[in-house]
Amino acid sequence: MKLVHTPCLLFALTLLGGTTSPAFGQERVFDPERRLAELGIELPTPPTPVANYVNGVQTGNLIFLAGKGPKYPDGTELHGKLGAEVTIEEGYEGARMTAINQLAVLKAMLGDLSRVKRVVKVLGMVNSAPDFVEQPAVINGFSDLIVEVFGDRGRHARAAVGMASLPRGQSVEIELVVEVEPEAVVRTAPGEEPLDLTYFGCAGWRIMDGNVVVLVDPYISRLNYGAGGHPDDNRTHFARTDLAWSDTALIDSHVTEADYILITHSHFDHLADVPYIARKTGAKVIGHETANSILRAYGIPDEQLYTVKGGEDYQFDSFSVRVVPSLHSALNEKLYYDSRRYDEGSNLKAPLRINQFIEGGTLAFLARFDRHTVLAMGGMNFIEREFEGLEPDILLAGINGSRIGLYDYDRRLLKATGFPQVVLPTHWDNFRYPYGFSQQANIERNILPFIETVRKISPESTVITPVHLEPIRIR
Ligand SMILES: [Zn+2]
Repeated sequence: MKLVHTPCLLFALTLLGGTTSPAFGQERVFDPERRLAELGIELPTPPTPVANYVNGVQTGNLIFLAGKGPKYPDGTELHGKLGAEVTIEEGYEGARMTAINQLAVLKAMLGDLSRVKRVVKVLGMVNSAPDFVEQPAVINGFSDLIVEVFGDRGRHARAAVGMASLPRGQSVEIELVVEVEPEAVVRTAPGEEPLDLTYFGCAGWRIMDGNVVVLVDPYISRLNYGAGGHPDDNRTHFARTDLAWSDTALIDSHVTEADYILITHSHFDHLADVPYIARKTGAKVIGHETANSILRAYGIPDEQLYTVKGGEDYQFDSFSVRVVPSLHSALNEKLYYDSRRYDEGSNLKAPLRINQFIEGGTLAFLARFDRHTVLAMGGMNFIEREFEGLEPDILLAGINGSRIGLYDYDRRLLKATGFPQVVLPTHWDNFRYPYGFSQQANIERNILPFIETVRKISPESTVITPVHLEPIRIR
């Protein structure tokens, strides 16, 4: 299995600390090789090193590439000094050719350029006449192509310097450092449909392959309600007794289609946006009686609502789903318990108040796609014997502080689910913060200790920290 992040248009490093971007969610699948084809670029066979060194060295997740120059497919090189016999335009073209040569090396090392997670650092050396000072304009030929191919993942730190001479009199030489995704865990044959998983925050996901789009607890509005909001969040504050409200413009920018929506339970931060999404997309909703009673109150027609209690195993056109009885997070230091339920007689009137979105019991879902099986949790608890034997290869694992009060949670969870190959933490963020606000505190509190534990308990598992709205591709 190949794990490949796909980019959105927001600069990757600002995802956890910057501001929101209206372009967020206009993501296209990250496919640098298709991008090369679109640019009409064919990668050459990487040059063989001419001495006792190699083209690139990988240490950890970083690859350090040896310096390469502007060598063209016919074997010629761009020679000469900038500021003397070579123009800036020629130098720029040479730097662009150098980028193509380095991509060829990377492709040979990685097999697939979509494993590039980040271009980290570039050192551009320009063979310069003594008074030449336009080295950056030359090395731009390299940087521009890299960004054209990798998008924001291609933006790098850089030095562009002048040299008194370069080997063989070549006009430029450029080296770079690249961060790569960990090696694949499971392999599928080329051409098979990958699975793309996009984290909406809270317990919300979009899971799609070429056949079907499935949403889990899609909650996009991220209202600032109750306690726990961010001091710099200047949006409206809602009390729990206020009427529920969905940010439909925000939803529209991130959710355009859905075939199925799986609802683990009907708390506000799981169900609040589903009435709008179900109406807009016509998606079929699979949820318990309380959730579907709320959706009925919002006018979602019966033919869209599959009401389940846990134990069902349904085959649909392009995927199947097993409904797994589960438990709600042990909130409030395990004092939380809510036995309330809604049914046809509940006389609900939309819009509900925020605190009328009651749990109604909690489910988990085993969703089987063409190539992968995903076990989706909606919180930080589960029934061990219900998970045993499901053996998902991808686990959306509830990872938040409330799991700490449970007996040996991480170990029991990984064992019961058969030590899944890919573990994606879910419900770990502060869902009252708008997209773009830093979630670093929650990453440090929830995810980093979990990764440490997984390393010990299930060393074969790969934990990927999802970034809001940024698809993770699993081949
Ligand atoms: Zn809940």
